[in-house]
Amino acid sequence: MHLAEIVRLRLVPTAGLFLALTRRCPLSCAHCSTESLMTSEQYAEEPFRRIVASFTAQCRPHVLYMSGGEPLLRAGLVRDLAETARAAGTRSGVVSGMYFARGGGKLPAALRRAIAAVDHFTASLDEFHEREVSRADVFRALHEIRQIVPAISLQLTGRDPDDPYLADLIASARREFADEVPMLVGVVNAVGRAKRHDPGTPTTPASHAPGGPQPCLLTSWPLVHYDGTVLACCNQELVARTRPAHLVLGDAARDPWPVLRERSLRRHLLRGLRLLGPIELRARFQTSPADGASGGYCGTCVTLGTDAGLDAALDRYLTSATGSALEAAVQRMAEASPAKAFSGRYGSAPHSELVTLGLDRS
Ligand code: SF4
Repeated sequence: MHLAEIVRLRLVPTAGLFLALTRRCPLSCAHCSTESLMTSEQYAEEPFRRIVASFTAQCRPHVLYMSGGEPLLRAGLVRDLAETARAAGTRSGVVSGMYFARGGGKLPAALRRAIAAVDHFTASLDEFHEREVSRADVFRALHEIRQIVPAISLQLTGRDPDDPYLADLIASARREFADEVPMLVGVVNAVGRAKRHDPGTPTTPASHAPGGPQPCLLTSWPLVHYDGTVLACCNQELVARTRPAHLVLGDAARDPWPVLRERSLRRHLLRGLRLLGPIELRARFQTSPADGASGGYCGTCVTLGTDAGLDAALDRYLTSATGSALEAAVQRMAEASPAKAFSGRYGSAPHSELVTLGLDRS
């Protein structure tokens, strides 16, 4: 499963499901968006096992993507979830900070079994990671991993698209893997520990400029948070902290995938966010001032559910001829969009084509 295929599906509602298996991580990267430590919280495995066990051949996401913290701290769980998902026809991926690569040496057997069970392996690398695990160690481990997993990719992050460090990292990865390993390139956002290091960095993508519809595509794949709560979007830091009802889909310990999928596809506010984005939704349909509105793109979004009149007005719009025609057109565009549509908007736009590296050889 090539990175371009995963990224293309990111635009399609409920085509994938994220699992944040643990907040723990052995590394201490200065920019960590989840502020992970080895002492961070880690909850029971059961909610993750239950939701994946509820996939069926008829109703399942196409992709299951496991992250953390460091998901490979739960190597046995990663392996079991990948195997259960595959039995229903869902392919899986895992992203790692590569803690196990530090100092060289072979992959431990438990990690080897977990990685061999997934369809895609992503290594995360940036200036802050490199202070914890060297680039040479990451590349060496990736060469070994390529032998046991069908596809690999790199998730590279810089301070901005023109960051000279980022340019050097991309060039060295392209050389190391002869342009056969695709890359999703992004820029650091001011969340988690990065907030302290660079408080001026925007918390939402630059493409969320004010004015007109700005659909939120991060509502496409639900995310199971560390404690089993299922969130409607992957802005985990904000939504898990604030838990507005319209962005909480349910509980993985209780709600099976078909139920969560229906909620994600049917809930008016989520459909409106995918169509128009939070600021346009409020501008068009607001009936009362939002409680606790803090402004901004996501800051507006988390308060939308406090306006019951907005939900009713949006429902009327979505069932109107204009609203339903627009929703159908946006859905068709999402399904037909190239991989670089997502990486261009949510990553570093000048590097969006790098998600297709190696595609012609896969
Ligand atoms: S706009 Fe809302 S749904 Fe979209 S990323 Fe922000 S908080 Fe999540």
